[in-house]
Amino acid sequence: MKVRCPICGISCLWQDNPWRPFCSERCRLLDLGNWAAGDYRIAGAAASPIEEEEEEP
Ligand SMILES: [Zn+2]
Repeated sequence: MKVRCPICGISCLWQDNPWRPFCSERCRLLDLGNWAAGDYRIAGAAASPIEEEEEEP
């Protein structure tokens, strides 16, 4: 399964991707910075593992 990075738009793997839905730490931080400038209230969000069982057609 691949997702498109909302920051740079390239396709990246969803599974085994610690930065999902982004392609890399860089894009994740960029996105974080986008709204952290206004209101910083994300804390440890990336530390919660989510089991994705859904399969999209
Ligand atoms: Zn990216």
